[in-house]
Amino acid sequence: MPRYVQPVNAAGPGSPAGLREANRRRVLDAVLAAGEPTQAGIAAATGLAPATVSNIVRQLVDVGSLTATTTVRGGRRVRAVRVVPPAGHVAGIDFGHRHVRVGLARAADTLPRTTAEGVPGPPVPLVAEREADLPDGHGVDDGLDTAAVMLDQALAAAGVDRAELVGVGVGLPAPVDVRTGAVGEPGILPGWVGVDAAHRAGRRLGVPVAVDNDALLGTLAEQAWGALADVRDAVYLKLSDGVGAGLVLDGRPYRGRTGTAGEIGHVVVADDAGGPTGGVGSTVCRCGNRGCLETWASTTTVVGLLEPLLGRPLTIAEVVARARAGHAPSRRVLADTGGHVGRALGGLCSVLTPARVVVGGELAQAGDLLIEPLHAALVRWALPGAAEGVEVVPARLGARAHVLGAVALAGELALGTRG
Ligand SMILES: [Zn+2]
Repeated sequence: MPRYVQPVNAAGPGSPAGLREANRRRVLDAVLAAGEPTQAGIAAATGLAPATVSNIVRQLVDVGSLTATTTVRGGRRVRAVRVVPPAGHVAGIDFGHRHVRVGLARAADTLPRTTAEGVPGPPVPLVAEREADLPDGHGVDDGLDTAAVMLDQALAAAGVDRAELVGVGVGLPAPVDVRTGAVGEPGILPGWVGVDAAHRAGRRLGVPVAVDNDALLGTLAEQAWGALADVRDAVYLKLSDGVGAGLVLDGRPYRGRTGTAGEIGHVVVADDAGGPTGGVGSTVCRCGNRGCLETWASTTTVVGLLEPLLGRPLTIAEVVARARAGHAPSRRVLADTGGHVGRALGGLCSVLTPARVVVGGELAQAGDLLIEPLHAALVRWALPGAAEGVEVVPARLGARAHVLGAVALAGELALGTRG
């Protein structure tokens, strides 16, 4: 699993501190990937100078993240390095538009397992899990208060003392700017915009907190334990109230200059025709544009198209059940939704040539009803060579992908902040 903790309130990615942190992470990555590499092996894997590797290993040994032992390999004395599994427990908190989910795990269990090639290990076992509804448009303090209560319940249920909690990962359905830590727009959590969520949550929960966008956390979880374990170039799609993506380029999650890469929901797919609700001109998006993918393909749009027809509020699970039972309008809406997503993805595939697209989020439960038309549209709108052989598959971790990603993020935090 790629090591990946966003620097909290740290200097930006291009600064000396950002570079040191990036190098530290590359060394940890290399050690985790290889199991027990030599320092020379780490230098070869990372491209870092042997002296730099030696310095970083010494620092990580000092804080208890690594052990280094002298051993003999191939007749030569070498320094072999291993990761020390972090002690204690970590928690993941996944905030949605109207829900919050909390998962608790042993920190050591968040480390990647060695598996046969292409076969991911089972996901990190959660020792306790809680889920609750949140009011629409909730503020930061309300959301954190609810999460704190659920976290206490989870700790009590698992019989874990609060002092054993060493880190928390938080997922938000909004972009998070790595330069400032601020939750950005367009998010679907208006009460959180502009807030330094890691700092605020850290103060409220009394432990180190790392925060990231939920689509990115879904990507991390699927890389560690799911449908992205065996590919180096891929896209994870989150199709829920909000539409977002996590990009994996050359084996690593790609965050872009500001940390907010992947906002495919705000790619304009049509701005000159009737919008999905049949109005004149495309629907205005919460970001201020017209015709963004999210206005065509979110859960809100799907149920909004069918509720007038059926005369009552609907859930996505009901829409999928009706479609599977042969309800033509539900089938049509899910197929069109897949088509809109596929069109936006076609452009992305032409640019990035991923090997696999993993469909997660609430709409993923539509399975082939959405994925087949999505794939067809992707092929239709991508450069022929770029779309050839691209697999489109459902997320393996389902609705738990984001909370498991938050747990993975917390595990990384525990690994990186010891000592
Ligand atoms: Zn938009």
